[in-house]
Amino acid sequence: MKAMLCNAARGSYSVGAFNILDYNSTKAVVQAAEETKAPVIIQTSAKTVIFWDTAPIISWVREIACSSSVPIALHLDHCKDLDLIKKCIELGWTSVMIDASSKPFEENLSLSRQVVKMARPKNITVETELGAIVGVEDDIHVKEQEAHLADPAQAIQFCREVEPDCFAPAIGTAHGIYKGEPKIAYDLLEDIAAKTKVPIALHGGTGLADDVFKKCISLGCVKVNISTQLKYDFIDGFIDYHNSHNIQYDPLKIIDAQFHRLKEGIIEKIKLFGSASKA
Ligand SMILES: [Zn+2]
Repeated sequence: MKAMLCNAARGSYSVGAFNILDYNSTKAVVQAAEETKAPVIIQTSAKTVIFWDTAPIISWVREIACSSSVPIALHLDHCKDLDLIKKCIELGWTSVMIDASSKPFEENLSLSRQVVKMARPKNITVETELGAIVGVEDDIHVKEQEAHLADPAQAIQFCREVEPDCFAPAIGTAHGIYKGEPKIAYDLLEDIAAKTKVPIALHGGTGLADDVFKKCISLGCVKVNISTQLKYDFIDGFIDYHNSHNIQYDPLKIIDAQFHRLKEGIIEKIKLFGSASKA
């Protein structure tokens, strides 16, 4: 993933990281990337990994990605569990995120450093988080009153001491569906990106306006996470097809409709992030 993000930084675009749920959604991510000739990140939440276990996920990704013509990374999103991170590193994930952002600063530093130490000899990319991103991601709930933006001085110290490959500072975006207009701290993003020189990941991508994405990308976000959109397209793609063909009861047709719904949404985002034709 690191090489993809460095290329994106040089080319002033962003790589989409899409949270998959099963074989069908994995195939949708890869086919969307192939049709647009884009590098792409298949992202798994810790919850999804625990639900299926590692072996089925690895088998889908190997089967779909190994015959693909575009660069593909397999990334573990927001993980607090060092044992699960270790397992994913050993079994074939190409990058992992340690999310110790709910811990005190020193503890976040220490846990993040441990993961870098574990991952670097195997050439696995590490993403870390600082600050608290509001909303629900996986089973991690951050209430509005508990959310706080990353502190710039701490961000610089954190990146100097941990040396992450990718950094997710809380800059005002939220996980889940936005209730109002999000207030993005663009100055903070620009400041952190310029001073740390670490590729920045943008979390809480679903629901942001196109110009917000573009501005964040222009200020240093080279990875954009899209999770909630895929959850909606996964469920609505299924329901909408069934509602309009409810006497059919042909599961394969429903799966196909769901696949196309997911794929079209992913293609739109890839084009918006500027990563089309960058494979
Ligand atoms: Zn996130």
